[in-house]
Amino acid sequence: MAASELEILIDHLKGLVGSAGFREGGDIELKNYQDVMGARSVAPLLLLRPSDTQQVSAILKACFEANQPIAPQGGMTGLVSGAAPLEGEISLSFERMKKIIEVDRFTSTMTVEAGVELQKIQEEADSHEMLFPLDLGARGSCTIGGNLSTNAGGNRVIRYGMTRDLVIGIEAVLADGTIIDGLHKLRKNNTGYDLKQLFIGSEGTLGVITQAVLKLSPKPSSQVVALCGVNGFENVANLLVHAQTGLGSNLSAFEVIWNNTYRLIDEHVPHASVPMSDQYDFYVLIESMGSHAEKDADLFVDVLHGASEKQLVEEIIIADSDSKIKNIWTVRDAAAEVYPGVGTMHTYDVSLNVDDMGYFGEEVEKRLRAQWPEAILGLFGHIGDGNVHIIIHVGPETERYHLQIDEIIYRLIQELNGAVSAEHGIGLMKKQFLSYSKSESEIALMKALKQTMDPRGILNPGRVF
Ligand code: ZN
Repeated sequence: MAASELEILIDHLKGLVGSAGFREGGDIELKNYQDVMGARSVAPLLLLRPSDTQQVSAILKACFEANQPIAPQGGMTGLVSGAAPLEGEISLSFERMKKIIEVDRFTSTMTVEAGVELQKIQEEADSHEMLFPLDLGARGSCTIGGNLSTNAGGNRVIRYGMTRDLVIGIEAVLADGTIIDGLHKLRKNNTGYDLKQLFIGSEGTLGVITQAVLKLSPKPSSQVVALCGVNGFENVANLLVHAQTGLGSNLSAFEVIWNNTYRLIDEHVPHASVPMSDQYDFYVLIESMGSHAEKDADLFVDVLHGASEKQLVEEIIIADSDSKIKNIWTVRDAAAEVYPGVGTMHTYDVSLNVDDMGYFGEEVEKRLRAQWPEAILGLFGHIGDGNVHIIIHVGPETERYHLQIDEIIYRLIQELNGAVSAEHGIGLMKKQFLSYSKSESEIALMKALKQTMDPRGILNPGRVF
């Protein structure tokens, strides 16, 4: 685009949103373009902050006509470098679209604008004695629009599913400005293609989500948590089946910390105090949530007792008070906080069959050590849904070896028919490995959809593929 055309477009866009609706030059805050993955820090040509869907539509229509690339953003907490603008892009922020429009107790739904923070949605649901079950570390700053467009996962997927499973209706805007109004509360709606799913998890490349109708659940009134020391991954896998069978729908988390991570936490995260010795191969956090405090606690103890009789577990600590529960979760969350003590670490988010995970952990270590005998690594994750995170440090030059480490991890994932991304998405960081988990014909269909919905390629270009 010629400089004068760009000036005309920018003036037009400013006019569409009014003075509160944009920021430019030095007025754009770092938080609106700083990449949390440290990949880049490129200020956008303009930061647009529309106040409603009509403005989003007008913005996209104008950018479409001018072939101007646009990068939508939520709370900028993503871990695959998808939202921070690239050179020459205009950023589209939802920080002024933060309204909770309605909570409907009869359909158990909440209707919200895209810019509402996840934690605010959780609190609103809670104040109505209901639960919005999506939960992740960035809850205070991530927004529901970002959660939806990346199909975020988190700690309670085992019971409630990914973000994709927590949505009933969506309003989105296509690249050319067309508004797709799918905002309804119908849990059953088999009227052709489920169009909302095109916008969920497509990382802002097929359209921009402006509002959503979220599915709420009954608020559980009981919570019990245990930490189990387990030897051998086969026992972890059998413990999962045992817990699923015994606890049924009360099972709300099944998180596993490998011994290597447990030791890193003990050594490097002072505010997390590990409740048992570091002699076991695996540490499994099991959580139950239900609606009959006494019965649920009894059932939980019975199920764990059964696990111990079957010799699946070596040691069990049951947390029955809020502070003990918090302690155990703090240890689990500390897995993501060992970096300052260790040094630069690469983080991986992959998915594979539960029965391949024991082999995966051993093989990752073997292949890494073949190249870097002193490598420090840790595995942990949401094993109940087949999702493992890996943190890796291979020495002071860890940054330089990024691609080689990627290749080791993703090659192994490909061999095991896993997914190179479980809950973080593809963004820019994983796009060169997309073909390790998606076939040629799948990628061709993805590209055909992109071509149909965004023929000029203005929406988050270069992300995903
Ligand atoms: Zn996770």
